[in-house]
Amino acid sequence: MDKERIAKNLAKVKKDIAPYRAKLVAVTKFVDAKTTRELYDLGVRDMGENRSDKFLAKIEALNDIQSEITWHFIGHLQSRQVKLIINQVDYLHSLDRLSLAKEIQKRADQAVKCFLQVNVSGEETKGGFDPDRVMEAVEAIEVYDKVQIVGLMTMAPIDAGETELHHYFAELKEIQQLIVRKNYPWAPCTELSMGMSRDYQIALEEGATFIRVGSALYDQK
Ligand SMILES: *Cc1c(COP(=O)(O)O)cnc(C)c1O
Repeated sequence: MDKERIAKNLAKVKKDIAPYRAKLVAVTKFVDAKTTRELYDLGVRDMGENRSDKFLAKIEALNDIQSEITWHFIGHLQSRQVKLIINQVDYLHSLDRLSLAKEIQKRADQAVKCFLQVNVSGEETKGGFDPDRVMEAVEAIEVYDKVQIVGLMTMAPIDAGETELHHYFAELKEIQQLIVRKNYPWAPCTELSMGMSRDYQIALEEGATFIRVGSALYDQK
């Protein structure tokens, strides 16, 4: 990957985010350890991976710098893989079922910052809680003190138009606000992880606090 190209793309995304109070998670699942290191050299400290095996290989390859990196796990996590990675991730964006919370409780050394994944569009192929089941999930998680609900996460359908995107992201924020108002100590839920390469601008407008951007950094759009 051409470093100058990445630098240019990164500058563009940063410029787009600048007016908002959001954090960029650079999704590195498409690129090797060398390109991930280039992102680090360009000042990126928040990285997102979506597969346990690749994530472990990355932190191994970046052993000398990995403690300075905030690692975001953004993909579907199988219960049997929890023990392999959970103590190495800083944020889990994809808490998509209660059985996963139970497994985290068993395997985590300390509380893990988690986003509940919400299936706002109701697509059958997508994971996550139905919007009308999120509150009961939050309440059920009280018993798992290793799970801290820092926010909600969603992925919009890839074919959604602009109006629909606004609607989905606004809906996630509405649910988040309901949770915030409960003042549950285990679920401050102040964050919104939403927006990817093609829709982060709209997500920012709707209040995203973390955007997860991959392909726009690597010209794979
Ligand atoms: C791959 C991925 C991203 C980044 O997608 P781009 O469209 O390449 O920016 C964001 N979130 C999740 C959950 C992903 O799996």
